[in-house]
Amino acid sequence: MLTPDEPRPVLLMNTVWASRSRLHDDLTTVSGLRDFLGVPAGEDDLVAFRALRQALRDLAGVLTEDTRPIAQDRDLGRAVAEVNRAARSSPRWPQLAVRDGELLRHNESEGSPADAERASIAAEAVDLFTGEDRVLLRACHAPGCVLYFVKDHPRREWCSPSCGNRVRAARHYRRNRG
Ligand SMILES: [Zn+2]
Repeated sequence: MLTPDEPRPVLLMNTVWASRSRLHDDLTTVSGLRDFLGVPAGEDDLVAFRALRQALRDLAGVLTEDTRPIAQDRDLGRAVAEVNRAARSSPRWPQLAVRDGELLRHNESEGSPADAERASIAAEAVDLFTGEDRVLLRACHAPGCVLYFVKDHPRREWCSPSCGNRVRAARHYRRNRG
């Protein structure tokens, strides 16, 4: 995982990544999805998570006015419908429990663990895209990078230190050649 501290919708978007201009995809197999989620998952879940990921990337592309080649062909209406479908995929409600005389809260949900994960990532995405942090969402414009990130401090320009280093190295190279 290249950007481990991002919110979960951004982590899902960033399962598509690039190195040396080659595109990689962590979600091409069911086992890749299981690794990402940490819960059991099947073929249907893989299809559903890939559809949600595309929708999240489309919405991030619109919000960040992303001009990178990978972010073209966005379909806002389809993306909104997909996030809404995912958010409905597993109803969730708070429950009380008593342990040693203390009241505790836990969430219960209907459906499989993968459905519950998909619904909660979609719900987080609704908050991310409509909340205060939406203006902090960024596309990383380091050469070849396809990731998104939330700009969590004012001087942050890149998704990761490695992208920052590559940009600085490229500038240095150009300066020394010129
Ligand atoms: Zn980057």
